Amino acid sequence: MIYLDHAATTQMSERAAEAMKEAATVTFGNPSAGYELAAKARAVVNRAKITIACSLGAKDTEILFTSGATEGNNFCLFSGARRAEHPVILISAAEHPSVRECALELKRRGAYVAEIPLLTDGRIDLDAAERFLKEHRDTTVVSVMAANNETGVIQPIKELGDMIRIYAPDCLFHVDAVQYYGYFPINVREWKADLITASAHKFYGPKGVGFVWHRESVNLPPLLYGGGQEEGLRSGTENVPGIAGMACAVEELEQGARKDSGSLYELRDYLKGLLLELEPGITFHPGASSLTVPGIINFSFPGFSGTLMRNRLDVEGICVSTGSACANRKREPSRVLMAMGVSPEEAECSIRVSLGRENTKEQMEETVRAMARITGKR
Ligand code: PMP
Repeated sequence: MIYLDHAATTQMSERAAEAMKEAATVTFGNPSAGYELAAKARAVVNRAKITIACSLGAKDTEILFTSGATEGNNFCLFSGARRAEHPVILISAAEHPSVRECALELKRRGAYVAEIPLLTDGRIDLDAAERFLKEHRDTTVVSVMAANNETGVIQPIKELGDMIRIYAPDCLFHVDAVQYYGYFPINVREWKADLITASAHKFYGPKGVGFVWHRESVNLPPLLYGGGQEEGLRSGTENVPGIAGMACAVEELEQGARKDSGSLYELRDYLKGLLLELEPGITFHPGASSLTVPGIINFSFPGFSGTLMRNRLDVEGICVSTGSACANRKREPSRVLMAMGVSPEEAECSIRVSLGRENTKEQMEETVRAMARITGKR
């Protein structure tokens, strides 16, 4: 099998799996209980907070564990919107459904929701954002992702953060960093964000666990009520094995796994070269790869359906995706590509290849040979 869908999920690292096993079978106590075994479980959770906080240049008290980025994004949008009686929410046209659907639900409940359009290179239109913020200085929440899950496009988060602080200083700035954190380090102060979400299974950690960094001065109401765990911010017995596995995956990023992004750029450019050799009519979304994270390549094979290509590659033992894995269940051309000005026909032909640290040049060659067979080009 050749796995080229790392933006959908990654294979858990051996060390993270071992850390999970230890937390599930040895330090398995309920962190809220009152004996030594519980204290050991609590220590695992506390250590994980310190590891993650250090990696972000943040304080451990600013880390909230969640069941993943969908929950994290729901928390940021819904709890953030509760700060205002008539919330004003600004998201981008590139957002993942776990942000977009929250915004749409808030709109149904009476919030004013607007969308920052995308430029043809996939980045948000900062001028449009500026116009909106100038007109709506009472904006409650702005939510823009750091890197897009379909195209890999990196958004100008720092510039947007500066703009928000000028025009709407009381607004909460939320950044979904799910597709960014595995490639590049984040320093929370640089972005001028208030809330950042991430998900462990995108960076070789376990599924069903993630975190939200929340700026110390921001006091949000909880999304889940109950026993008062996580300083009352998220009730429910902590997922200690998941948290231990995630912290281990973060440690691995910090110890150099991220540096692989240098060789990923090389691998990506190698694959792009092979694709263009096979079919010069291929279009990449976006055209300039300097704007994307190294691992995500989105392209259209002219006149060849993306779904068909994915299915035929699957038969050959190669895993790729069309659009985002979540959008795949809805059989519509990608909303994100169309927001970049890609036609619905071309968007139908798009596939996403997302590379990871175990991929090799030989695998790229094999993939392109399979595409040649599938499209009848060789
Ligand atoms: N945001 C982005 C950008 C994503 O790519 C994903 C996963 N597809 C999510 C949020 C949701 O993450 P999770 O699977 O942890 O709920």
